[in-house]
Amino acid sequence: MPVIPAALGTAPSQPRRRKRELDELIFDVIKNASVPVGAYAISNFLSETGDNVVPNQVYRTLVRLVEDERIRRVECLTAFVVATPQQGLDLVCASCHQIVTIPNEAIRKDLESCAHNIGFKPNRIVVELIGHCDRCSSAIDTGCD
Ligand SMILES: [Zn+2]
Repeated sequence: MPVIPAALGTAPSQPRRRKRELDELIFDVIKNASVPVGAYAISNFLSETGDNVVPNQVYRTLVRLVEDERIRRVECLTAFVVATPQQGLDLVCASCHQIVTIPNEAIRKDLESCAHNIGFKPNRIVVELIGHCDRCSSAIDTGCD
């Protein structure tokens, strides 16, 4: 019978992270970021701080955090922010990626109504306005960056 050396066994070189630990680690990165962050940025940031989390682990964790409604995706940036109970319109700056959410349930209801009037059943509604924030608009107007 062949003998398998212990080094080739199933014990990983680092202890496997538990899902809950990854959830908190990645949630904290998103919570502390000044702008929405994507999976690769999260993975790179964690590598720099000594917490190696491969992109696949980040993706799986992001899916779990979205399902738990702790974060939400900013579609136009392919990035994530902490979820708030309030839904509305996201104003996304194309230059600095700052995001401001303006509560406006009326527009959401109008969109739902329009969709239902033509027999369309939306799974979810995403309203994002892409432009430039006041600071970036001023920089563009003055030619500064
Ligand atoms: Zn901006």
